[in-house]
Amino acid sequence: MLAEVLARLEAMGHRAAAVPVGRLEELREHYEELSRRGLLDERIARDLLNGLTLRPPEAVPRAGSLLVVATTEPVVCCTFGWQGSDVRIPIPPTYLQYRRKSEEVERALAEQLPRECHVTSLLNAPHKLLAVRSGLARYGRNNISYIPGFGSFYSLTTVCTDLPCDDAEWSAPSMLPRCERCTSCASACPTGAIPEDRVLLRGELCITYWNEKPGDVPFPGWLAGDWHDSLVGCLHCQLACPENEAVLDHRETGPSFTEDETEVLLYADRPDDLPDDLTEKLESWDLLAWLGVLPRNLAVHLPGAD
Ligand code: SF4
Ligand code: SF4
Repeated sequence: MLAEVLARLEAMGHRAAAVPVGRLEELREHYEELSRRGLLDERIARDLLNGLTLRPPEAVPRAGSLLVVATTEPVVCCTFGWQGSDVRIPIPPTYLQYRRKSEEVERALAEQLPRECHVTSLLNAPHKLLAVRSGLARYGRNNISYIPGFGSFYSLTTVCTDLPCDDAEWSAPSMLPRCERCTSCASACPTGAIPEDRVLLRGELCITYWNEKPGDVPFPGWLAGDWHDSLVGCLHCQLACPENEAVLDHRETGPSFTEDETEVLLYADRPDDLPDDLTEKLESWDLLAWLGVLPRNLAVHLPGAD
């Protein structure tokens, strides 16, 4: 049954893999072990262990399997009116419309499965690690995961079902073979977060780590303003990676904001501070979820704003 479901997801353009639900607990142990061995920054380990779903959901009483589903995603380019010009700022894949895409995958699965089967997506599952350990994806040296044909331009949804899953790949995290003789991402990373002598990223130096933090956390002084290339997240290493050569043109025009709207977004960090039409625009792109970080993140892209 599981094999048929996976095949149908592939036929719909997704890539998918399944693992037994018990792997969630193993992943908790994996993060704890990395933290104990000092291979993960203490703050990052705390954020992971507190923020991730590492237990089966109560909504699936006899949980048996996790399905990890990859869907291709473009870079979305937003436009902000500022001092008589248009400033274009990209958002990397995975940041937008995540909840909607998860619901779509959940619905597509529910339609394929018997009525009595439970299907629940886990929004905060360790999607990337599940994808890598299930064999669906492989890590790059930059700690971004890659899927053949999709590069790193995709989002992941993890769905828990009560379908049993006894026999599934579960391999140690491994790097793309190409990374052994390539350092393009390390050269492109402005902060030195990608070491050439070990697999783990120096997460505390990664721009993404800082610009996803709550908006009242200031950027550290060493993080130069012109190192930021995205509204949230960072694209330097992904754009330099040869694994992404075939998907680099996968771009979409995103929302456009007038100068007045840009002014509001530089200071408003709560939905109550926004006019209704701006709320709707942000909501239609799922950008409302990032409102709290927008004033800080946007200011570094607009001359004279910070
Ligand atoms: S996301 Fe940006 S800061 Fe982080 S490793 Fe890649 S290039 Fe460096
Ligand atoms: S740029 Fe090179 S080393 Fe970095 S992830 Fe891509 S293939 Fe690997």
